[in-house]
Amino acid sequence: MDLQTPVRDVSRIYKMYASRLEKLGIKKIEDFLYHIPFRYDDYSLISKIKDVQPGEIVTIQGEIIEIKTDFTRRFKTLQRARVKDETGEIAVTWFNQPYIVKSLAIGDTVALSGKVEEFLHKIVLQSPEYELLIEHIEPIHTSRLVPIYPETKGVSSKWLRRQTSKFLQNQVEKLLDHIPDSILTDNQFLSIQNAIKEIHFPKSLESADEARRRLAFDELFLLQLSAMERKSTWLKQTVTKPLTIKKFRKHIDAFIASLPFQLTAGQEKAVDEILSDLEMSKPMNRLLEGDVGSGKTVVGMIAMYASHLNGLQSVIMAPTEILANQHYNTISNLLEPLGVKISLATGSNKLKIEDSAFHILVGTHAVLSKKIAFEKLGLVIIDEQQRFGVRQRALIKDKGVNPHLLTMTATPIPRTVALTIYGDLDLSTLGELPKGRKLIKTWLVAPEKRDGAYEWMEEQIAETGSQAFIICPFIEESENMTTVKAASQEFERLKKEVFSKNMRLGLLHGKLKSKEKDAVLQQFKNKEFDILVATPVVEVGIDIPNATIMLIEATERFGLAQLHQLRGRVGRGEKQSYCLLFTDSKNPTTLKKLKSMETMHIGSELAELDLSLRGPGDLYGTMQHGMVKLKIANFFDQALIRLVRNEANKIFPNLDSYPILRDKLRLISTENVTPD
Ligand code: ADP
Ligand code: MG
Repeated sequence: MDLQTPVRDVSRIYKMYASRLEKLGIKKIEDFLYHIPFRYDDYSLISKIKDVQPGEIVTIQGEIIEIKTDFTRRFKTLQRARVKDETGEIAVTWFNQPYIVKSLAIGDTVALSGKVEEFLHKIVLQSPEYELLIEHIEPIHTSRLVPIYPETKGVSSKWLRRQTSKFLQNQVEKLLDHIPDSILTDNQFLSIQNAIKEIHFPKSLESADEARRRLAFDELFLLQLSAMERKSTWLKQTVTKPLTIKKFRKHIDAFIASLPFQLTAGQEKAVDEILSDLEMSKPMNRLLEGDVGSGKTVVGMIAMYASHLNGLQSVIMAPTEILANQHYNTISNLLEPLGVKISLATGSNKLKIEDSAFHILVGTHAVLSKKIAFEKLGLVIIDEQQRFGVRQRALIKDKGVNPHLLTMTATPIPRTVALTIYGDLDLSTLGELPKGRKLIKTWLVAPEKRDGAYEWMEEQIAETGSQAFIICPFIEESENMTTVKAASQEFERLKKEVFSKNMRLGLLHGKLKSKEKDAVLQQFKNKEFDILVATPVVEVGIDIPNATIMLIEATERFGLAQLHQLRGRVGRGEKQSYCLLFTDSKNPTTLKKLKSMETMHIGSELAELDLSLRGPGDLYGTMQHGMVKLKIANFFDQALIRLVRNEANKIFPNLDSYPILRDKLRLISTENVTPD
């Protein structure tokens, strides 16, 4: 067995656990070592029994002198024990954990860590963690800072702790340090072995922090270097056919002037940056970042028009069919009158031969189908989805062309972060929303005002002819209910019990076939419904200007950035828009967080707040940041990010002096090739 041994090959037990572990991202032994705790329970205070006080979280160590199961009403059980040390005795109880009576016996020496409670003037240690104390073996579940891991059904922190402590004994020395020695010394970093040991079983919170910093550095360092490598490869390429802009400037300006609105300053700047990229002989690789509703589509459209004027084709790829169809309509409306031929390729709308002579192809992943030939592809635009992978690039290369590339995203990315993780991309940002947009009035609605809110909604719709979204909650799979089922039930309830007969309701959920989804959205767009009840699938990109009310259920289940994305589905027209947030949560922190939606309207600020509000408990939690997932590092640790960039600049591109590092980077870049 070594670090690369797949979990399922370790033992029969592990084989059984393999699919569960995979959910946690643990596929091989090494992954156990990199499955990082997101917090620690502090059981390091070891008390004598006579000293324990109600309210304290303590560890006591002693001998079991009594242990049994009692039955309570309703067939529940109660496990009771008494434990003594040289200073006294204490009662211990657990609820409904009958196996404890089997695993602990009278005479055993144990450590118990948990909260001390007082019942009827008697002191009880309530549902503590427990473990047998064995000479020369350090406790792992009690008596120390105890790691709490991301878990999944059937894989508890306790189980993970046991495995990890085993691998820390017999595998950790095999880890190779891919960080150059000079960097380790200059920054006084822990060795990789010590960092991994300390992050799992730290001596103190300070040393856990030190370990985390070292591991976060590693993670960001690899991301930074991969980006630098991608960039240097990219810079060596040349586009098949550079564009000229000057010659067509008049046409482009005329198109911009014909738009029903004036471009914002941000849009103008982005257009300039993109057009000057298009004139280069090296391919553009640019990220266009702008909050929801900031108007990225039209910027992309101008670039595609420029490409068309040069006699070249463009492709725009969206993450969902709904969005692809919407782009198809928007782009057709504006560009078809200028003689641009636009085709659509999605899973349910395969490209037909007669459509294959397009100037612009709009679609989902289907646009990369082998069957579609691009003779003169000049520009590829990727909207709101994963970064364009090495694999997709290879697919396009296979078609014998090397186009310019523009990626568009509403995920807020701080500048330092962008420089590290997207260091290979040039960045354009749309800083402002188009003029005249009103802030979306947002309220966190108290549960008792629910009925009032529905009434208000119906009045608004009746008076102004606006439309509304009602977003049903995500349902965790384990909850015995699917999101789709919940949405259908809510739809029936709203129709029968809440709104009057005059209100026309539509239902949109993820299980509908793509054609059906489209039909529903089209009907909504045509104002055949007043209210669209939907699962959170409407999150990405949908543009329905007449919809001005967004009601979101179970908002405690969403991150702020995600709520902001949902809210961005309204407020797209001239009319005042509203967002109503519902929650049953009583947790003051949650309520405060949700309340901040009322006053904050900028995506990047909400994303930052989201992160800072996760609290120390969640400090080491993972965060999905649009396209890259960080396991250990935190995108808002600007100082560390700068350090990473400095250190990377010192050694790049001379990676041959660092063979372990170079191999590691190779491994990452091949992992990126796997399909998404
Ligand atoms: P996103 O950046 O979220 O993709 P869209 O491109 O879908 O945003 O644009 C949102 C809406 O704003 C569209 O209806 C679009 O026509 C409109 N829009 C774009 N630019 C402007 C502008 N400069 N002024 C007014 N409306 C604009
Ligand atoms: Mg968009």
